Amino acid sequence: MRFTQFFIRTQKEWPRDEESANAKFLHRGGFVEKIGAGIHAFLPLGLRVLDKINRVIREEMNAIGASELLLPALIPKKYWEATDRWNVPILYKSTDSSGQEYGLGFTHEEVLTPILKRRIQSFRDLPTALYQIQTKFRDEPRARFGLIRGKEFTMKDLYSFHADAKDLERFYWTVADAYKKIFSRLELPVRVVEAAGGDFTKEYTHEFQVLVPAGEDTIFYCEACDFAQNKEIANVAALDTCPKCARAKIKESNGIEVGNIFRLGTKFSEAANLVYKDSAGKEQLVVMGSYGIGPSRAMGAIVELNHDDAGIRWPKEAAPFRIHLIALPGGEKQADAAYKYFAEQGVDVLYDDRNDATPGEKLTDADLIGIPVRIIASTRTANMVEVTMRDEKPFPFQSIEAAVLAVQRYYAR
Ligand code: ATP
Ligand code: MG
Repeated sequence: MRFTQFFIRTQKEWPRDEESANAKFLHRGGFVEKIGAGIHAFLPLGLRVLDKINRVIREEMNAIGASELLLPALIPKKYWEATDRWNVPILYKSTDSSGQEYGLGFTHEEVLTPILKRRIQSFRDLPTALYQIQTKFRDEPRARFGLIRGKEFTMKDLYSFHADAKDLERFYWTVADAYKKIFSRLELPVRVVEAAGGDFTKEYTHEFQVLVPAGEDTIFYCEACDFAQNKEIANVAALDTCPKCARAKIKESNGIEVGNIFRLGTKFSEAANLVYKDSAGKEQLVVMGSYGIGPSRAMGAIVELNHDDAGIRWPKEAAPFRIHLIALPGGEKQADAAYKYFAEQGVDVLYDDRNDATPGEKLTDADLIGIPVRIIASTRTANMVEVTMRDEKPFPFQSIEAAVLAVQRYYAR
């Protein structure tokens, strides 16, 4: 993609009234624009990042046998009434010109369960799992921290349907493993934290928390084992001996919840009378689970964790492009040739081909945009290019062909 064709506008000034790193750097790099409290526009560069994150999520959801669908955001009142959630405070409501009332989806059990009711007959139809990646609306009283808490945000929501609690349990931990893979690919170190299930369950649910100062949750965790609890339910406190391994003292940290998994049990299947016939022909309630990830929140969390004074340092799988190719004075022809070759090889590259920007401006923009691999052509590199890969030793100048191979190896690691 040529810089001169793609819409990129980095910003010279920090945003006013923003404290969080993700709000500041996503603004400066031209990834998002704040439209109102908790409402953001994703500019082309930001949309590319979101799409990369979504791609990782989709791959891991498809790998556990979940099918993607897309549910509406505009949901008639009767659906919310059926589960007694019409008066949930975070529900945005709307009335159309004929007086019909709607709620904007903040989660989608209400819509999906009746769809399944018309399509599940017997135990042979189970288990099944469906997910979507969609915009959610929540009237959050304290929308803040850039993408971390929005009134409009994206969610991957997965719902699973089972014949019994045992099968739900099996799938619950399958999803937990898939989530670990997703966050590891996005280089988000997560703790799997025990949390309260709210209205749904007396058992713990599990949150996937990134431990960073910018987080709104408080997490107690053990450094010697995997024990971790959200303060909201905790039966430990900081400096206690770990109740699980007894080998270390409990620590306290703020956390950002990037995902969570819930056992819903039969709450929603009871409301919709979602039943199936077991092998004896007897009607049984379907047992459900629901599982969320916030891709837009994850994008904010990635920036909280990965930035320096000069800009964002995107993890490989979330970077808007794989290579940032820069033509500096004297290197224009060589950079053009490299761009052409990269395009032929199908390499995802951003090519700064501007002739009205100074070298300093180009390099500052490259820092703000934060792509892990930078390739520069200049008088100095002659018929070679200079390849810089984050966290790797500098290379001697290389031919264009060798540069592509090196980049492919870097991304395969
Ligand atoms: P929180 O405790 O942060 O309010 P939640 O427990 O209500 O979130 P869910 O309803 O389970 O979250 O939503 C699933 C996922 O969607 C969360 O794990 C989070 O990553 C994301 N998410 C929830 N609320 C928001 C929001 N207001 N802005 C951005 N992402 C959100
Ligand atoms: Mg929560």
